[in-house]
Amino acid sequence: MENLREESVKAALQRKKINVKLPSKRISEYYGENVFTDATMKKYLSEDAYNGIKSAISSGTKIDRNTADQVAAAMKAWAIEKGAKSYSHWFQPLTGATAEKHDTFFIPTSDGKGIEAFTGDSLVQQEPDASSFPNGGIRQTFEARGYTAWDPTSPAFIMEIGDGITLCIPTIFISYTGESLDHKAPLLKSAHFLEKAALPVVNLFDRHATKVQATLGWEQEYFVIDESLFYARPDLMLSGRTLLGQAPAKGQQLDDHYFGSIPERVYDFMLDFEKEAHKLGIPVRTRHNEVAPSQFELAPMFEEVNVAVDHNQLIMDILERVGKRHKLKVLLHEKPFQGINGSGKHNNWSMSTDTGKNLLSPGKTPKNNLMFLTFFVNVIKAVNEYSDLLRASIASASNDHRLGANEAPPAIISVFIGSHLTSVLEEISKRVEQGKYDEDKNATLKLDIHNKIPDVLLDNTDRNRTSPFAFTGNKFEVRAVGSTANCAWPMTVLNTIMANQLTEFKKEVDALMKDGEKKEGAILRVIRRYIDDSQRILFEGDNYSDEWAAEAKKRGLNNVKTTPYALDFLEEKSVKDLFVNNNIFNEKELEARTEIFFEAYTLKLQIESRTLGEMALNSVLPAAINYQNRLIENVRGLKELGLKKEAYSSQLALITRISEHINSIEQDVAAMIEERKKANVLEHASDKAKAYCDKVKPYFDTIRYHSDKIELEIDDKLWPLPKYRELLFFK
Ligand code: ADP
Ligand code: MG
Repeated sequence: MENLREESVKAALQRKKINVKLPSKRISEYYGENVFTDATMKKYLSEDAYNGIKSAISSGTKIDRNTADQVAAAMKAWAIEKGAKSYSHWFQPLTGATAEKHDTFFIPTSDGKGIEAFTGDSLVQQEPDASSFPNGGIRQTFEARGYTAWDPTSPAFIMEIGDGITLCIPTIFISYTGESLDHKAPLLKSAHFLEKAALPVVNLFDRHATKVQATLGWEQEYFVIDESLFYARPDLMLSGRTLLGQAPAKGQQLDDHYFGSIPERVYDFMLDFEKEAHKLGIPVRTRHNEVAPSQFELAPMFEEVNVAVDHNQLIMDILERVGKRHKLKVLLHEKPFQGINGSGKHNNWSMSTDTGKNLLSPGKTPKNNLMFLTFFVNVIKAVNEYSDLLRASIASASNDHRLGANEAPPAIISVFIGSHLTSVLEEISKRVEQGKYDEDKNATLKLDIHNKIPDVLLDNTDRNRTSPFAFTGNKFEVRAVGSTANCAWPMTVLNTIMANQLTEFKKEVDALMKDGEKKEGAILRVIRRYIDDSQRILFEGDNYSDEWAAEAKKRGLNNVKTTPYALDFLEEKSVKDLFVNNNIFNEKELEARTEIFFEAYTLKLQIESRTLGEMALNSVLPAAINYQNRLIENVRGLKELGLKKEAYSSQLALITRISEHINSIEQDVAAMIEERKKANVLEHASDKAKAYCDKVKPYFDTIRYHSDKIELEIDDKLWPLPKYRELLFFK
């Protein structure tokens, strides 16, 4: 521990890439080999059992015991062939991470030997000792049982960790009393709700469609730094971000990292995790450098939303595990470094039918375009009505560092659609108002919109990178999601508000048609009203500008910059009604969840505050005093030589400045601890979170300010923590 910084820098400098061996096969030959895919299932199951499970999955009905037993036997046979010795239910509690509890297939028998067993019961349900997962007061400790239940719509897979090979079964996590305690159950409910609501609307245009599903393609940003440097920074270790640190002279201002050539060691790491991802059937396709030094992005092909969410959770896990092999630490935090870009997770979202149509893809024929416009405008209307809920769904302590800073979408939710579609919407609004749509039987043709819309696809200049919610040709891209987030929560919200909106739409169109209006006319009339009603949410300009903040205020759009205030919207009546009436949450579940989110915020800030206090007192102040002593010695020496005061005036000034910084830090740390104490005794989760936000957090900035000044002024050799330039520029 003599000088951890020096040691860690040395270790990082000496690191070589490990030269990953990729299979000599094509990716298509090993893609999905660790997944219990449809084809695998077919191979290992009797025809009856296979058909049974398939129809249960597609109709969402209960899987009978006999089928469950057969599927379990098939999974066991397959997994054991692959070398698996244990199985685990795999779930996504509200902690943000994934959770597992492994059991061996092996069970001892009375003759002193044993067998490998895996029954339908074990497949369908498991009881982890769940008392330590966040539950927002749903479970009293005396009824600490929660259980996990198999989700057959996401395929089981094999996780290889070193020599440990485990069969993982995606599950939902519920309390003993039936309330959901995870991110998955509500997501599945919202997807089901969307399917139910969207299908009748699709059938207005396409009678053959029998299924609609939400699709998600996420783009994951992350930082990579050398492991030894990571372990020399308590803040990175404990809070995932640097709480101190002077920005380096060179950051991202030259833009020389973005899409630049990937450093070799990182490239090696990427090949390695992509191989693992492909084996797990995660369709990873894209890799590139991001804007900030040491920042990268990966993206797969989009998938059905439930599977896409699982794959994103899995990939975050894989990144960390594979990173270890390369002595690299993957930082998923939204803002690991001050002064350079943070990380997000764009959620590309759309809906598609079993007839192969993307509902947000502008078509070539007028009829298809009316279908496109219907879904497109309904999304806008839904977001306009529930923008605060959407904001709440992306709120987290770590994401607060991005939203509202001029590098990521602001905390004001708005929708960007591009100039073409803006003019299309204006035209519809005008024409319908003038009654032109019903002069001709073929109303949409008359609107002449079919010629315009396909242009959107070609128009690449029409891109706005500053919008939190942007239409990008054939999907909406939710850009404000944080890089550590579980996509399930914002996707649950989006599915739900869209389904709710489509239900409303269908009702209105039906009512008009009942009054004798033709279908197209009725649809256009409703769409037109939606367009007019949703104007305030549409914004095409620079979302980072101060003008937009002022304009948004005029429009009545909220600008909620911090999580505890964003979460308040979850307690509004309209939000409760939305979730409860549509069976996504019951009231108790929603309250519990809200409380968990408040608590998570408080806990994160508490950890940061403690870590910062310790680092300031245990690392920064001793270094400052050390250097100050050297200066004092120096001054004393110069004085002894009989030099005049002018000869050491700079040293004296520096000594004074350092004293000022030391005093400020010492006082601020003490004051911060006082505020923490006051906050900790508050009763309500919401008040506590707000106290941490308003009273504790401001000290982070002042302590950091003085610490960073000290870092800037003292002898480089005395500074105990790896500096930004070391963290960010080692390759
Ligand atoms: P970019 O946004 O960087 O220009 P792309 O437009 O190619 O990149 O796609 C970004 C992401 O959007 C990818 O993950 C892709 O799979 C996803 N995506 C494309 N089409 C859809 C869709 N219909 N539904 C959901 N995601 C989609
Ligand atoms: Mg994108």
